[in-house]
Amino acid sequence: MGDSPDNSDGLPWEPGAGDAPEDNAPSAAELEDAGQGSMFGAAEAEPVAPPATEVPPAKETPDVALTVPSEPLVEPTAPDPAQPYRVLARKYRPQTFSELIGQEPMVRTLANAIARDRLAHAFLMTGVRGVGKTSTARLIAKALNCVGPDGKGGPTIDPCGVCEPCTAIAEGRHIDVIEMDAASHTGVDDVREIIEAVRYSAVSARYKIYIIDEVHMLSRNAFNALLKTLEEPPAHVKFLFATTEVDKLPVTVLSRTQRFDLRRIPAELLKEHFAEICRKEGVEAEDEALAIVANAAEGSVRDGLSILDQAIAHADMGADEGSDSTVTAERVQSMLGLADKGAQRRLLGHLLEGEARPLLAGVDEQYALGVEPLAMMRALMDIVHRITVSQVSGGEPDAPSAEERAELAAWAEAIPAGRLHRLWQLLLKGHEEVRQAPDPLVSARMALLRTLHANDLPDPGRLAQIIADAAANAPSAPTTTGSEGTAEAPAAKSIDWRDLVAKLEDAGQHLAASTMKLQIRPIAIESELLRFSRDARYKDDIGPQLREALLAATGERWQIEQAPEGGAPSLVEQEQQAAADAQREAREHPMVKAAFAAFPDAELLEETQTPSPRRDWRREA
Ligand SMILES: [Zn+2]
Repeated sequence: MGDSPDNSDGLPWEPGAGDAPEDNAPSAAELEDAGQGSMFGAAEAEPVAPPATEVPPAKETPDVALTVPSEPLVEPTAPDPAQPYRVLARKYRPQTFSELIGQEPMVRTLANAIARDRLAHAFLMTGVRGVGKTSTARLIAKALNCVGPDGKGGPTIDPCGVCEPCTAIAEGRHIDVIEMDAASHTGVDDVREIIEAVRYSAVSARYKIYIIDEVHMLSRNAFNALLKTLEEPPAHVKFLFATTEVDKLPVTVLSRTQRFDLRRIPAELLKEHFAEICRKEGVEAEDEALAIVANAAEGSVRDGLSILDQAIAHADMGADEGSDSTVTAERVQSMLGLADKGAQRRLLGHLLEGEARPLLAGVDEQYALGVEPLAMMRALMDIVHRITVSQVSGGEPDAPSAEERAELAAWAEAIPAGRLHRLWQLLLKGHEEVRQAPDPLVSARMALLRTLHANDLPDPGRLAQIIADAAANAPSAPTTTGSEGTAEAPAAKSIDWRDLVAKLEDAGQHLAASTMKLQIRPIAIESELLRFSRDARYKDDIGPQLREALLAATGERWQIEQAPEGGAPSLVEQEQQAAADAQREAREHPMVKAAFAAFPDAELLEETQTPSPRRDWRREA
């Protein structure tokens, strides 16, 4: 283990670091943390410090039990200026499973496994960063190796915290609990060291425990080397793997481990946890401030505690300047660079009301306060999302303050779902643009104005209704009887002509019917009289043929008169004309006209035709 890093992290309480260990001895949590990052080769670590003095009194309950006194290791302390500042995430690292918040299902499973003596030889802890994977691994190490206050106990879900293995593990100095960060020990050689060491039994503990953090970082060869050991591990060895990216683990490893998925901790639970810590720390904090911290933590206790640390420091700074030291929502917001929620809602209000000038003023004001344009877009999207979710669920909107909830609920009530979705799309597009724009502020202003204007437009459903209404009310489509001049063309009688031709066809007079369709331009169709003209190219006399056919079809003797010119176009000519007019007719269609009325600037482009000459569609027949 020649590559084991030096265990001295320069922590102030370490012997030789200069500080005389005063009466406020470091907590077990701090000492435990001293072992962090030095894990590979921790066996060579020097003894760090005497055991913590702040542990609760020994308990006589070594058996498996989930109900443990929730007394923290660290008692509530009044702020003591002489005390070195302790990072909350270290100070409140869970020392018992009951302090591990939000992971009850996992703890229950583990308790059952311990109670029934059905422990896997390899565990895998998965979850996002800061949910407590490493803490859990150490707790399991304690649970497996605890001997109880009397030294006679067995594995327990409720490690005593006072026996030698418990304290040594908490301080990160137990010779049989070896931690390794796979992120910095990815190679096969690192794993070989483990495999070599696995053969030797534990020095003092019940189990020899290997905690491998970020195990997905191991190389393929390293995994392969490890696999043989995982297949047949000695009975005294347990592996505890932790990873944020379980997808990257070979299935061969997954199949040989008992997997625990650590959950993202709900904001509500985090908030309670932080409130409890503030109480213990003697820190005043507004409820909404804690809610903001919990939301910003995104499910991670560790991240949340870091933010809380900063927030307390900020508040203390404020106190130095004469104001109250309460952790307020306002302070947390400004510290996190979060936009003022009220201002965001006002922006959205302007958007929805179509108030362009106040909207721009609001954007500028936010920008002047240091809110990035991208953050503005995101905040607006966030509000729209909350409104939509609230509308769908019918429940109260998810927001920290009552005022915000009321406002979002009112919007959820008032804004149609379609409009919300359109708003989201517009903001999302704007967000993309702002992200890529050389000048994000300009881009944000333009994107928001576009959103505002587009918001005025009817939504697609409403638009369809408008168009349908317009079409219904429009005068009927112009009947095109052709462009060939037909001064006295009896348009009304052409329908009869059509009927007459159909009658001949029905009667089997196909030849005459086809002649009538092709050649005859009817001028007058009266009772037993047909006057018509024909194109000059038709020279033959069709009178006898027509008379015969009409008699056969109608049983009447028709008088046939051919005039030199005039008459409506023949049926075939009408069809050709109709086809030629089809495109123009389409353009003149009331639906299309209504669409143009809704979008005056729109242009009609045809698929089969280039758009030039422009406005061609306006050409009248
Ligand atoms: Zn113990």
